[in-house]
Amino acid sequence: MAACSMNKPSHLNWIELSQDALNKNILSLSKLAGNSTLTVCVKANAYGHGLSEIVAMLSERPEVDGLTVHSLEEAAQSRQAGWKRGLMLLGPFDTSQAEEIFHLDVEPTIFDKEQLEQLGQLSDKLNSNLKTHLKLETGTNRQGIRSNELSAFASIYQKYERLARPYGASMHFANIEDTTDHSYAQQQLGEFNEMLKKMENLGIAPTVRHTASSAALILLESTHFDLVRPGISVYGYWPSKETYLSYRHSGGDNDIFRPVLSWKTRITQLKVVPADSFIGYGCSYRTGSEAKLAVIPIGYYDGFGRNLSNLAYVLVKGKRAPVRGRVCMNLTMIDISDIPGVKVGDEVTIIGQSGSEVLTAKQLASWGESISYEVLARLSAATPRLAVD
Ligand SMILES: *Cc1c(COP(=O)(O)O)cnc(C)c1O
Repeated sequence: MAACSMNKPSHLNWIELSQDALNKNILSLSKLAGNSTLTVCVKANAYGHGLSEIVAMLSERPEVDGLTVHSLEEAAQSRQAGWKRGLMLLGPFDTSQAEEIFHLDVEPTIFDKEQLEQLGQLSDKLNSNLKTHLKLETGTNRQGIRSNELSAFASIYQKYERLARPYGASMHFANIEDTTDHSYAQQQLGEFNEMLKKMENLGIAPTVRHTASSAALILLESTHFDLVRPGISVYGYWPSKETYLSYRHSGGDNDIFRPVLSWKTRITQLKVVPADSFIGYGCSYRTGSEAKLAVIPIGYYDGFGRNLSNLAYVLVKGKRAPVRGRVCMNLTMIDISDIPGVKVGDEVTIIGQSGSEVLTAKQLASWGESISYEVLARLSAATPRLAVD
């Protein structure tokens, strides 16, 4: 495991992960999930938190029954990090990787007849049972299969006894996070229930039905079924402002999630620049008066997006320091004119708490016109991850 506890990181750029916050979020989600199986989505390097570090932390939580991943590479990494429980593949796989599915003991999501046929043949050849999940199309129009294709899938399932029938049936909502109006979600849910009935009539009734990502899990109990698949909320973020408002409007508690991740760096250079000086590429910022600037060794390579140029703030000694000029590939300039006593080597908080000030991925997302999902997912995998508390 790459994570280790340290009081004074020697790095210039690092990410801290709070086990306490992760525990709190898992307990909140476990309570919301009730009797449904709780899986945790660790795709996109565990939403930028670091896959092996998060898998190691989740291994300590008995509430978590399984992980969901996007790719077989992530599945292999999760097994390498010691994950022994359930592992579901949400995304596609290449035909050449099909045997890996058996070796890694992964439950693939199926949306392609040829691939199901191939897995059926392999289950015979390897004399090995396989749990598969059929992805049903209910209105997101991404990966699902349509109602009129179900009978073709049923005949494949009936041909291979080691696939006997689909273990799971799933769908994904298109419009829960982005709105407080859940009529489209209700319509998709209706379609899902119709397709489940059809599967039953075809003799392929699924054992595990699942639809709920974070927003559905938090807001609509009718979406929980047998298993839930939250991602963003595990890491302490609400899927959206709308989800938060809907939850609070229905009387839910304010304090059920806490961000797991903090991102920090150190000042590597200080300078005083005269009035009327341009700062950085493109001369996009010009000082109005003499200014004290600090250079920090992070840039868009590290996940501090160029869209934050001249917009974002970072925290130094519990105060906000504005970004001046364009964010570079590996460096960013900040203005510390109003913050006394700053020295080279002082800690800078990009995401997290400094004194009484807090910056979140959501705040960065709003400055950069993005969403917290993207800000987190784009954090560089090369940045060291350290477990704290
Ligand atoms: C990413 C993903 C999830 C998790 O979504 P969150 O909004 O992060 O909770 C669940 N299901 C599928 C199919 C996904 O792709």
